[in-house]
Amino acid sequence: MGSPEGTGEFVIANPSNLKPVGRVPAGIPADVAKAVNAAHGAFAEWSATSGFERGAILARAAELLEGRREDIAQLITNEVGMPIKMSRAIQAGLPIEAWKRYAERARTHNFETRLANSRILEVPVGVVACITPWNYPLHQVTAKVAAALAAGCTVVLKPSEVAPLSAFLLAEVLEQAGLPSGVFNLIVGDGESVGEALVTNPEVDMISFTGSTAVGKRIARLAAENLTRVSLELGGKSAAVILEDGDLERAVKNTVNACFLNGGQTCSALTRLLVPESRYEQAKSIAAKAASRFVPGDPVDDQTRLGPLVSERQKHMVLDYIGKGIDSGAELVAGGLEPVDGPGHFVRATVFGRVDPASDIAQEEIFGPVLSIICYGDEDEALAIANGTRYGLAGAVWSLDEARAQDFAVRMETGQIDINGAPSIWTPRSAASDTPAMAVKTAPLDCPNS
Ligand code: NAD
Repeated sequence: MGSPEGTGEFVIANPSNLKPVGRVPAGIPADVAKAVNAAHGAFAEWSATSGFERGAILARAAELLEGRREDIAQLITNEVGMPIKMSRAIQAGLPIEAWKRYAERARTHNFETRLANSRILEVPVGVVACITPWNYPLHQVTAKVAAALAAGCTVVLKPSEVAPLSAFLLAEVLEQAGLPSGVFNLIVGDGESVGEALVTNPEVDMISFTGSTAVGKRIARLAAENLTRVSLELGGKSAAVILEDGDLERAVKNTVNACFLNGGQTCSALTRLLVPESRYEQAKSIAAKAASRFVPGDPVDDQTRLGPLVSERQKHMVLDYIGKGIDSGAELVAGGLEPVDGPGHFVRATVFGRVDPASDIAQEEIFGPVLSIICYGDEDEALAIANGTRYGLAGAVWSLDEARAQDFAVRMETGQIDINGAPSIWTPRSAASDTPAMAVKTAPLDCPNS
């Protein structure tokens, strides 16, 4: 990476105490042009390497990251606020595992196959612009960058300006791992100037974006101008549906844990809990008890389960939604607007009951620790409510009858569904149990995601 043209910097503050934890250079559009140019220049040589050679560099990167596991967990806890115990497992553990897997994939993948008398070559698309959010910063970066490098693409990464520190750690690691110069380029900047300069650069061959739905729409529109390929991973408002015979205790506890993971700042968080009307009172009291264990606290303390939200802006957006929930007439079961002592961006773990499925808190992604319990009459109504938002990212179904749960799951219009708490990539939801647990994943066939 060369030196930046921009002279500004981003100061990253710890969201639990507002003290600075790092400074990074703020890029400008001229830096984007330089970075894309470097990636374009490096493409011919990198794409000509074998999968085996690329896999060896990725494996070395995985080893180096492994050696810095604790640094990564501490760094991300300090910039995002996720409690350290979960940060070790998820913020550090998942990306390290993913680098190992992509290394293996690069080494073993067959980039050439035959079909009848045709020779089919899988070739790298070119320069990939990777634009990522702040909530799982290194994991989101890894899911794009490791995959692109394994395929033989070169990369320009624009991580979120809110949490860019782990991307710099990764840049150091990739250099030490022997990645040739120009193959990976890092630029930090805001979305409107730097992000859009990247998206509209004609030498970018593919954009891989993860973030909010509003920005995803904007990127898709801008990319259309150059007919640049786009992969979008956007927001969610995922429903956990407890069928009449579901294990209420496990289902409610599991959903509360999944909803409040990382302070609710998880795209696949289960933020709507659908329960039969007849079981509402019982579900409500289990949820209130489970939520009471999420006491806001210092994220570096091993006992803390609920850290601060990432920023002042995020805190205000979430409090605004809690206010809307109260105004909508939903029952406030836990949490609410009461401020938390101290300077950090803390919000109380909040549960609303008897939420109107058409209300804002049931329809919009809040991205904070807010769970909406919604009652339904019969399964058809439950399905209509579950499918009745503009999102479709994740979901969950609970029933003692696996076939019944499967039937319901396949009718849910969402990409990944856990049945009876099947482990997902995000949350250690599966507990020892006799109830069958598995995940259903659906994906449109023409939807690549690097
Ligand atoms: P965001 O959309 O505000 O920002 C994401 C990235 O896009 C950042 O790097 C930002 O600088 C950049 N950006 C913003 N405006 C841009 C523009 N006009 N052009 C180009 N780039 C631009 O999202 P966020 O607040 O960082 O993250 C939270 C969102 O991400 C939530 O909606 C969450 O659901 C979503 N998310 C989705 C997944 C998934 O896998 N589906 C995973 C994690 C987060």
